[in-house]
This record gives sequence, structure tokens and C-alpha cells, in this order.
Amino acid sequence: MFWADRIGKEIEERVPSTDGAPLLVRDEKTLSGRVHIGSMRGVAIHGLVSEVLSERGIKNTYRYELNDFDPFDSIPGYLDEAVFTEHLGKPLYLVPSPEPGFANYAEYFGAELQEVIKKAGFNPEYYKAYADLYAPGKMDECIRIALDRASEVRRILKEVSGSVKDETWLPISVVCESCSKMMTTRASDWDGETVAYTCDKGPDGTVPCGNTGRVSPFGGRGKLFWKVDWAAKWTVQGVDVEGAGKDHSTKGGSRDVANHVAKELYGLETPFDIPYEFFLVGGKKMSSSKGRGSSAREISELFPPEVFRLALIGKDINQQTDVDPSGDSVPRMFDWYDDLAERVREGVADDFTRLYALCQLPENQAEIPTPWQLRFGQVAFIVQMPHLVLADEAERIKGSPLSEEEKEKLEERAEYARFWLTTYAPEQFRFVLQDQPSDFAYTDAQKRAFSLLADFMEEDDRTGEEVHARLHELKTEADIKPSELFVGLYQAFLARDSGPKAGWFLSVLPREFVVRSLREAGR
Ligand SMILES: [Zn+2]
Repeated sequence: MFWADRIGKEIEERVPSTDGAPLLVRDEKTLSGRVHIGSMRGVAIHGLVSEVLSERGIKNTYRYELNDFDPFDSIPGYLDEAVFTEHLGKPLYLVPSPEPGFANYAEYFGAELQEVIKKAGFNPEYYKAYADLYAPGKMDECIRIALDRASEVRRILKEVSGSVKDETWLPISVVCESCSKMMTTRASDWDGETVAYTCDKGPDGTVPCGNTGRVSPFGGRGKLFWKVDWAAKWTVQGVDVEGAGKDHSTKGGSRDVANHVAKELYGLETPFDIPYEFFLVGGKKMSSSKGRGSSAREISELFPPEVFRLALIGKDINQQTDVDPSGDSVPRMFDWYDDLAERVREGVADDFTRLYALCQLPENQAEIPTPWQLRFGQVAFIVQMPHLVLADEAERIKGSPLSEEEKEKLEERAEYARFWLTTYAPEQFRFVLQDQPSDFAYTDAQKRAFSLLADFMEEDDRTGEEVHARLHELKTEADIKPSELFVGLYQAFLARDSGPKAGWFLSVLPREFVVRSLREAGR
């Protein structure tokens, strides 16, 4: 069973009936900078589970929190340190936007994330931690309970995660009234109305102002310690389904603590969990892959929506996904998609064709489109050959005219191929056709093979399969090792040792040109 169906079924069996009220599926992201593609895995898993639940007739709502109330704890490398240092330690909603036109830092990076989520075809209800939960006082009751029973929170932290807090520690950070920072403050002495605080901590380069005072922790002036905050958000909103990356899901990990807090402090049945594996970029996790080509937006730019969805949902939640824009992941992702499409066209009904259906944007799922598509690798090759017309070559390979839909998809794929070739594509996919055979010390065997191949090409138009078969024969006729033959051909036409399938690429190049080059190189 496809993973999303398996989870949909488990939720149906395990989550108690809500008496007609829709189930609440929730996820969140702290907007501490440009969002890494890893966070899109959560977005997509929750989004797909929500879609599958709806298919099963289970009413549900998917809410996504743009967390603007965590502290700004480090300055990403792409921002000006001189500008942002003074804001370190403030809640994100009080940090200025890096670009004009956005109310604050969180809004700016949130807008970018929302664009990517939209492209992937997910449509959660968005809300903000500060503006929609804390500031209007929705968290106040949970804050009161957590402060009244702070000793229990300390006990849970110690028992579940082994983290020991001193007797005065309270599970809240308040925003300093003088400098607006929250990472710099230490709260103590809850009297039922206010907490005392001092602004005197300076972690990670933050500068405290030294202010002391008492402040009410309600109405957005204080934020719960995050594992308590997590449980409180479930309580306040009535969350039924919420997964998290597997790094949070270990015994004694943050999820475990939040579960205990939810049960013991707030008397809540904890949400159905979906622990999921990482989305890696070039084999690296979110924390260590901050380079170019690792943000949600950058990865989304590599694929049309349905292939982007495949990248996000294709692997079971127990498996890692790894995309490396500067390797062969991009053509392979398109190939995976095309393989699924082929199974659908063949009429197979299995987990693979189910996956293909779920890759389509929700508006396209009623009638699953399965246009024939030219393989991405071939598209990427042809768009680099100035004298080839993509649509003509595609029709030749398909063996029949392209439909309007197929023409559109071909043009779209060509745009993605051009984009990839000019951004991340590795050398092995970049080709420059040589007007003259490259200056290479061709062996006698290579020259023999070139002449025989020139004779064959001169006789008639040849298909890729025909050229391929002829190359196979030449191994014996010209007494040449396959590797020697192919290196010679790639050198002659592309001035390099490797390239696309030789039979195919020789068949798409203009015949006279191929013959002339082979004769010259074979001289
Ligand atoms: Zn301060």
C-alpha cells in the first residue's frame, strides 16, 4: 500500500471520531531564514495525508503555522551581518525584512515558502504564531497552567529528556520591554499575574541591555519554552494529526517531551504522529547543506509541479530522499516520473500508478494526464544542438505527431532543461557539438570503424536503433573494443570521452554532417 494510503487508513482506525468536526492536520516552520528544501517534506507529507483523508471521506483541515515568534538566533550567511547583528535575540516578527515590501523578517521568508508550497499544489490554511495565537491571547490559558505547574514541567524535562533546570526556571521567555529581545531574558518568580525578569543573558552573540522588571507573560509578551509551546499549540487548536522529522522523534527527544507535557499538563490525547526521514541535498542534512541549490525555492525551480511533487512524496516516509542539483538527480527524477507515466499508459494499477496520480496537482486528479514525453536527458541534449528542432526530433522519436498537450509539455520540459543546464548541471550533461572532429590521436581501429560507419550512414537515413546495432557489429568488423569505439565517437563529435547514447545522438544529427565528420576523423 502506498505510504499515504497506509497512514490515511491508520488515522481512520486510530484517531477517535470528532463528531462531525473536521480533523485538524498541522505543521509549522520557524522562519529563521531562507527555508531549506528539507522543510518541504513535512509540508508535503501533511498536505498529502490531508488529501488522502478527504478522498476517504474524512473531513479535515490542514493548517500551517508560519512561526514568527521564535527568536532570531543566527544571521544567515547571505544577509549583511552589520545590519542584522543588533536584532539578534529578538522575536522574528520584530526583525526587519531583508527587502522592502514586507512587514518583517518572518513575513519575507514566509512569502517565499508559501510560493513554493503553492507550486507543489498544497493549499493549507496559514496562520502566524505571534499574530494569530499569542498576541490575541489564545495561548494565555496554557501559559498560566505551565507557570502554575512549572515544577511539573521541570520534572517532565528531567524524567523524559534528562534535562535539569534549576528551581527558579520557568518555561517561558519574555520579551524585554527595553530592548525587545527574548533570548537575553531570564524569567522567574511567577506570582499569578507577572513574572520577574532580567535581561542579562548573551548567547550566540546577542547583547543584553541589563534591564530588569516584572511583566505579564500574556498577550504575546511571553512565549512558552518550545517543547511546552508545541504541546500548548496542540491543545489550543485541537490538533489531531501532526508528524515531525525523525530527529525530533527519538525517545527522550522533543516530541517525547511534548507528548508528556500534553498529557500530564494539559490532559490532551496527543496527535497522531508521522515521524519521517530527511530530505537530503547531495547527501547532506538540512543543518549542514546551506549552500546554493538547497533552499525550497531553488529545488522547486528545477521541476514542473508534478515532478516537484514526486520529489517530495515519492519516497516512503521511512526512506531518505536525496536530490543533488549538481549531479544526475534532476534527469533521474524526470525519468522516474516518465517511468510511472508509462505504467499508467499500460493500464497497470499498483502503488506506482497510485503515486503517479498523487503527483498530479489536485485540480488535475479527476482526469489523470499521461502525455507522451521525450526523456529529459534527450531534451537536454537536443536543446544544446543549435541546428536541431526539438519538436521534430521528439516526433521522430515518438513515431507519430505530438498532440497539443504533448507539445506544451515538451516546451515546458525544454525550459526546465535549459534552466538546469545554465545553473547546476554537471559537465557530463553539457555538450558542444564540434564543427570539425576534435584534435584527438585517433587509433587505427577507431579510424577503421569511422569509415565503416560513414559508409553505413551515407546509404540511408538511420534510426537510433539501427545505428546502435551497426555500432555493435563494428566491434568485430573493425576489431575494436567498445570503450575505444565510443570514446573515439564522443571525441570526434563532442571533444570529450562520454556523452548521450551514441546510436541515438548520431541518428539525430544531420546525416551529411555526421558522414563528413566521420570521414575526416577516419582519415
Ligand atoms: Zn533588554
